[in-house]
Amino acid sequence: MTDDYLFSLPQPFITIHGNDKRFPVRRVWCVGRNYAAHAKELGNDAKESPLFFSKQPDMVVPGGGTIRYPSLTFNYHYECELVVVLKEGGENVAVEVAPKLIFGHAVGLDMTRRDLQKQMQEKGRPWEIGKSFEQSAPVGAVTPAMGPLSAGRIRLSVNGEVKQDSDIGQMMWNEAEIISRLSQQVRLSAGDVIFTGTPEGVGPVTRGDRLLAEIAGLEPLSVTIA
Ligand code: MN
Repeated sequence: MTDDYLFSLPQPFITIHGNDKRFPVRRVWCVGRNYAAHAKELGNDAKESPLFFSKQPDMVVPGGGTIRYPSLTFNYHYECELVVVLKEGGENVAVEVAPKLIFGHAVGLDMTRRDLQKQMQEKGRPWEIGKSFEQSAPVGAVTPAMGPLSAGRIRLSVNGEVKQDSDIGQMMWNEAEIISRLSQQVRLSAGDVIFTGTPEGVGPVTRGDRLLAEIAGLEPLSVTIA
């Protein structure tokens, strides 16, 4: 009951393609280093267990649009990613069962303060300051799906120039494996949103830049840096 609370808070959400209803966001998880070529460009070993980190739900920017250049950074990066959203959850979900949890897919941008992320990594400290900040998770409209996407071109351009161009088939850990692994770490639930990692070609953006993120078969996501 709303009356039970001292004040009310907005429910973070993302939009659904072809549906007026909004998809409520419960938690936002991200996978680090899920494409070998990107792990390599950041100087990491290719084959490791999937690395999960989180963003706060209210950092989601549904549908993209104009976002502010964030505080504290001088090296603000885009990371174009396939986002999988869940309609069901569970703990210790088997890989074979994981596809049943999927509601659909969207294109997302895991915006990153790369300089701060690097500084924290070098000191062996958490990534929080580099990954979790205002408007750090633009997400396009969700396209409902019956199961995982196994392949499809993923592309990001800045001011019309292609910077990332790969295929989601290049992911080291596929959607079902990601869901299964993450469900060992935390209890998953309907409303959970998972960014599945970015391919190579990440780089900085500045004020005024226009980003276009695309994955074959999904609604494109446009973002302008103010
Ligand atoms: Mn990422």
